Amino acid sequence: MADSTPVSNQWVVDLIENFIAVSPLNNMQDGSSEPAWDSALVGFASGADPIWQQYKEYVGAFHWTPWEVFNQHHAVENVSAAELTVISWILPQRKRVRMANRRATDYPAEEWARIRVYGEEFNAALRRHVALCLEQVGHPAIAPMLAPNWTIVKSQRFSYASSWSERHAAFAAGLGTFGLCDGLITAKGKAMRAGSVVAKMSLKPSPRFYTGHQDYCLFHADGTCGKCIDRCPAGAITKSGHDKEKCRHHLVRSREYMKNTYNFEGYGCGLCQVGVPCEAKIPVKAAREALKKGIMPPPPPPLA
Ligand code: SF4
Ligand code: SF4
Repeated sequence: MADSTPVSNQWVVDLIENFIAVSPLNNMQDGSSEPAWDSALVGFASGADPIWQQYKEYVGAFHWTPWEVFNQHHAVENVSAAELTVISWILPQRKRVRMANRRATDYPAEEWARIRVYGEEFNAALRRHVALCLEQVGHPAIAPMLAPNWTIVKSQRFSYASSWSERHAAFAAGLGTFGLCDGLITAKGKAMRAGSVVAKMSLKPSPRFYTGHQDYCLFHADGTCGKCIDRCPAGAITKSGHDKEKCRHHLVRSREYMKNTYNFEGYGCGLCQVGVPCEAKIPVKAAREALKKGIMPPPPPPLA
């Protein structure tokens, strides 16, 4: 392996933002020149963070740590977990796309469906671009979601789960916490898509300005809201959480709708991500303000 060029956290952020700004793939693919995305939130986590092992123990043996997925694909490197950094990003949905999906009541608006298909194609290209650029400056990398052996497995506890989760990587990288509906609520809200790359490099981890995995959700914080329950056309969200099986069946049904209505292949929904207080911001005021100040939020008051 050739000598590596030292890169900084900001170098990686610029790499991502530049690709968003110049890639022709960043397009709604609707004949307009409108971009699918206009900015990203970027966070970093160490490969040695104990959270990765905790995920594995909680989700199942099939769930990769960064060290596992990196060494599966770069066995010759034989790195330790501490030599790895997970780069995670959030692509917040643009206002026009959110507004369109707010009006949807059963299946996604065309704008949202386009992002689910073509915006995600861009996200895959971004993963490849980040990994390739890092390799070119001497930092071998892997995008776990693009690994040929990435898979979804049936899970007794979770109905189904995958070898790598972009939302869990983002949680580890300080980018947000989960909501009642399982979506990740970030500083730019829950209407977003996420991506990540694991690379052999030591970058400063981003602080996590939260203690619990649902701190940014109003239902968790004070027992209010529950607006995502009403938004779900499949009855997949209740006060007990998200029923992945009901959600999956609705997504399967959306395939036919998208093909017949929009004339392209794909699936999507995201109705629970819009028209809700966490759509485009952290709805828990204390948590939002703590993040802005870069401090830990005060503990929530006990529920009545
Ligand atoms: S809509 Fe309300 S209850 Fe649902 S995830 Fe968002 S904040 Fe939580
Ligand atoms: S939980 Fe699933 S089916 Fe329900 S609104 Fe969200 S994405 Fe759609």
